Amino acid sequence: MIIIKKNEPLANHCTYRIGGPARVLFLAADEREIIAGIEIAKENRFKTMILGGGSNILFSDRGFDGLVLKLANNFIKIAEEKEDRAVVLAGAGAPLAALVKFALDNSLAGMEWAAGIPGTAGGAIRGNAGAFGREIGASVLRVRALEISGKSVVPAIVGKEDCAFGYRESVFKRNKNLVITAAKFVLEKGNANEIADKIKECAEKKRISQPLDFPSAGSVFKNPEGFFAAKIIEDCGLKGRSAGGAQISEKHANFIVNRGNAKADDVLALIAQIKAAAKEKFAVDLKEEIEIV
Ligand SMILES: Cc1cc2nc3c(=O)[nH]c(=O)nc-3n(C[C@H](O)[C@H](O)[C@H](O)COP(=O)(O)OP(=O)(O)OC[C@H]3O[C@@H](n4cnc5c(N)ncnc54)[C@H](O)[C@@H]3O)c2cc1C
Repeated sequence: MIIIKKNEPLANHCTYRIGGPARVLFLAADEREIIAGIEIAKENRFKTMILGGGSNILFSDRGFDGLVLKLANNFIKIAEEKEDRAVVLAGAGAPLAALVKFALDNSLAGMEWAAGIPGTAGGAIRGNAGAFGREIGASVLRVRALEISGKSVVPAIVGKEDCAFGYRESVFKRNKNLVITAAKFVLEKGNANEIADKIKECAEKKRISQPLDFPSAGSVFKNPEGFFAAKIIEDCGLKGRSAGGAQISEKHANFIVNRGNAKADDVLALIAQIKAAAKEKFAVDLKEEIEIV
């Protein structure tokens, strides 16, 4: 069932808990509803943006003057089974955590690294999310998308080779007219106990290294080639620096956390300070990993 909310605070729809109202928030539970949302936006000449789990986004304090299309098509099923592997089909709105759990429940290996990463399958594919040397692109077989061109909305199947996965990159990030609606993943058959152990290990490593006790959107900057953004920020002496309610985490310097009542402008002020210091001290141009809306 389509759910439409007017003037909906975006702070309620992102892990940062920051952001003013969306003119319209449109919750779509299947592909038909996603198309309906895109068409309503076109008819009303609203700007449109796609929202997954909101775990890689900083929304403006002024909100979004358009239609936010939140994907809630969260089915996950086995599409095909072979002796040694299975193809899993998931809706773009399926939480990554649910995909990790589904793989475990079916003794399928290959998603353990994603334990503890928030967000949806669609958001993860778009940014080629990764951890511990693994990336989601490695498990993608093909992606189902909608291409918005002029007045039409055309379904497209994008094979893995055309996804152009790179470090936190994909064709979906470069082409904003592509909306991911579902994807197929190839996972290897494995041993449930070993998969469970790996999941625990990955989640524990994240718990130890990341400031999970405060709202954030994960790592703010990509690691520049040959560097770690967190180390650069630390070496600039910025760890713990605050602006309003936002703070560069004491635990992981590439996280800017919301200490309670941060505004987007507070986070942006810290981003600007970090970029200026990294440029001055290390001649490095840090690039945001998070999406600033
Ligand atoms: C505590 C914490 C830890 C994290 N750890 C990691 C980590 O280890 N590794 C990592 O890679 N990331 C990490 N992240 C960042 C984030 O969880 C991932 O980038 C996640 O994959 C984003 O998915 P999402 O659904 O929340 O995307 P959103 O934040 O909703 O959207 C991000 C961008 O993708 C676009 N988008 C979303 N869905 C679609 C779609 N279906 N089609 C087209 N475009 C779409 C949006 O328009 C937006 O531009 C972390 C975040 C937090 C808060």
